Amino acid sequence: MKRKDRTGIMFTRSHSTWNKFVAILSDKISRKGCDHSYVETRKTLYVHIEPKYDISISDTKTMEYFKKYGGYCDCEILFNVAHDPNI
Ligand SMILES: [Zn+2]
Repeated sequence: MKRKDRTGIMFTRSHSTWNKFVAILSDKISRKGCDHSYVETRKTLYVHIEPKYDISISDTKTMEYFKKYGGYCDCEILFNVAHDPNI
């Protein structure tokens, strides 16, 4: 994850796989709940999205993006970032 962090992309709502990311994360959080961390967000990004769609995601840039729009943990990404039409 750190190795390619500088060259990876900022994963945002405009990425073509964003809806898939939200669907997977949503499913995980509805089953497991949120422990106020980015554990499930990171698993979704780096296990389900990145290898499957052959993209390189910058963890630093992406977490900054989530925080900027009020996503300070897995459930807040779903509440505040996932469906806000203004982002
Ligand atoms: Zn949460």
